Amino acid sequence: MTPVETDLIIAGGGLAGASLALAVSRLVPELRVTVVENHPLAPDAAPDDYQPSYDARSTALAWGSRLIFEQLGLWPALSEHATPIRHIHVSDRGRFGATRLHAEDHRQDALGYVADNRWMGLCLVAALRETPVRWLAPAEVRGLVPAPTGVAVTVRREGRDQVVTGRCLVVADGGRSGLRETLGFRTRTEDYGQNALIANVSTSEPHRFTAYERFDESGPMALLPHGSPTRAGHQSALVWTLDDRNLAEVLALPDDDKCRRLQERFGWRLGRFTRIGACSHYPLKLVTVDEPVRPGVALIGNAAHALHPVAGQGFNLALRGLMTLVEQFRRAVDQGRDIGELSVLAAYQRQHRQDWLKTVYFSDSLIRLFGPAPAPLAGARDAGLVGLDLLPPAKRWFVRQAMGLGGRRPFFGNAGRTGREVYHDDR
Ligand SMILES: Cc1cc2nc3c(=O)[nH]c(=O)nc-3n(C[C@H](O)[C@H](O)[C@H](O)COP(=O)(O)OP(=O)(O)OC[C@H]3O[C@@H](n4cnc5c(N)ncnc54)[C@H](O)[C@@H]3O)c2cc1C
Repeated sequence: MTPVETDLIIAGGGLAGASLALAVSRLVPELRVTVVENHPLAPDAAPDDYQPSYDARSTALAWGSRLIFEQLGLWPALSEHATPIRHIHVSDRGRFGATRLHAEDHRQDALGYVADNRWMGLCLVAALRETPVRWLAPAEVRGLVPAPTGVAVTVRREGRDQVVTGRCLVVADGGRSGLRETLGFRTRTEDYGQNALIANVSTSEPHRFTAYERFDESGPMALLPHGSPTRAGHQSALVWTLDDRNLAEVLALPDDDKCRRLQERFGWRLGRFTRIGACSHYPLKLVTVDEPVRPGVALIGNAAHALHPVAGQGFNLALRGLMTLVEQFRRAVDQGRDIGELSVLAAYQRQHRQDWLKTVYFSDSLIRLFGPAPAPLAGARDAGLVGLDLLPPAKRWFVRQAMGLGGRRPFFGNAGRTGREVYHDDR
């Protein structure tokens, strides 16, 4: 197979890799981009044909992510099937503390949105088809090979190896990143000793566009409004944290009993649980990479960090990170520098690090503060929740983190090229 010459090679066309490809094509159009993706590309389905399935897996998008997708021109399509989160209710089961956040108190339409992963993928691929971004799919990046200048990767496609050369390789191959290990990046893993059970559920009461975060002695649980963006329906997306023993027990139950068990854990705020869809589950780990860059190579998305899903921050953090990387690419191109230079990639790492640390801290402290706890700590967290409800600055901090506005603001100063800032809220 003939070698492919490009500028930016993206290994993995999942949510992070495809978003990066779109952002580069919009904001640094001088760069030639090649995405290598293991799975075949989604068929050319027009997004208006979309039929959400009951069991669709979804992602909570923070308000800040909406602003990024607006800048990339993707929000009008995405929003067709993005359910707004207008209220967040955080509580501790059977205890006093609870806090409520309302979008209108912060002069916003929504605190965030819930969108199906498949829908986001379709919108991204449909938008990318209109750009010069090149896809090699199905194809697998197998590793780096020595190159006199820049980077060269081996790609396995149709049973044969092909070399793709470029200036920079971005590894976006997900949480079980094989490439990260192959390339020798060191990871730190902290096992929460818990699992996330994911399913969609129906309830007798409508969700009223409310996301519930509920904590008790066995860990956190989240229920996110799911379905129509305009009509408050009866379906929610469930993230239920369970230890190994309880997970095995719940999975073995018939659906009616699963609903009853869920009812005991969650209570009656959404009325009766009437249906639970297909369940999937993931072991919960905090995986981080201290140094996500080296000359010619950068990690993004789950390859760089995997967080506890209950706080709904993983993809939102990934999106802010990749925008920071694109900002550095823009700067390098403007200054006539190589996008694979270590100083370019190190600037991405430096600037994203604060956001990364804050988000990891936010997600991790939610789990530790509100996870299984002895009575005195449970009392302290009740006080925390009440305090959060009463103290405007604390609440504002919480809201800004939940809305994805707590991090640094990637800034594209060249208005002629990109229009405006990614973030505008600075209260
Ligand atoms: C249960 C759960 C719930 C979550 N909920 C939320 C939420 O509400 N909000 C939020 O912000 N985040 C959430 N997250 C996190 C979010 O799902 C991830 O951050 C996001 O999916 C990361 O996308 P990614 O592109 O990095 O990885 P992936 O989606 O895993 O994509 C990686 C891609 O790389 C491809 N690939 C792998 N190896 C290779 C190779 N060698 N060559 C070529 N291609 C390759 C794969 O085929 C895949 O398409 C949740 C995560 C979990 C597990």
